[in-house]
Amino acid sequence: MPTVLVVEDETAIATLVQFNLVQAGFQVQVADNGLKAYELVQSVRPDLMILDLMLPGIGGMELCQRLRKEGVRIPIIILTAREEEIDRILGLEMGADDYVTKPFSPRELIARVKAVLRRTGEEPQQDDHYTVGDISIDGVKYEVKARGQLIDLTPREFELLLFLARNLNRALSRDHLLDKVWGYEFAGDTRIVDVHISHLRDKLEVDPKTPVYIKTVRGVGYKLVGGDGA
Ligand code: CA
Repeated sequence: MPTVLVVEDETAIATLVQFNLVQAGFQVQVADNGLKAYELVQSVRPDLMILDLMLPGIGGMELCQRLRKEGVRIPIIILTAREEEIDRILGLEMGADDYVTKPFSPRELIARVKAVLRRTGEEPQQDDHYTVGDISIDGVKYEVKARGQLIDLTPREFELLLFLARNLNRALSRDHLLDKVWGYEFAGDTRIVDVHISHLRDKLEVDPKTPVYIKTVRGVGYKLVGGDGA
């Protein structure tokens, strides 16, 4: 039974999250400040941490950075009220695994917890390397190059591209992508898939308006093709 550490100073939110996690079969520890959370990470060694950014004393961002600097690789899902912080949260600066914006539904949060645990629990495959036209994708080093240039992708963009590459030339529905890449077990809003596809095209295609690699399959979803116009 995985243990989740919930770091949140607002009692009502902490209690709601704790209740839903316990219902979903997790063991739960709660900390209402950053220092207590830091101590619990050392003593309890939780499998995952849900971390609010706005905390008294050591803030969530500082705690996350400190843990990463010390080499603590615990998966972290950030709770934030501020959309504009997402790039920093998921980027190298903080190194969180996922985020949920407030207000959030407990069901969504639980789905994220399960998805992150599933993803981080997987060992990288030995030969997870793909060349698609002039794009190369390295699933072990987590690197993507297009025309020899290293491309900066968010973790989720990378996961999406990697999944498309593992299923080269196969049409994949939005629901399937949402299930496999985001780990949503319920029908979610598939527009998030479209947004990420659009970002990938902007970063990888020579002309994002006439994509050569990431093709739309009408009425279905998307597929990655070899780049020969197929
Ligand atoms: Ca708070």
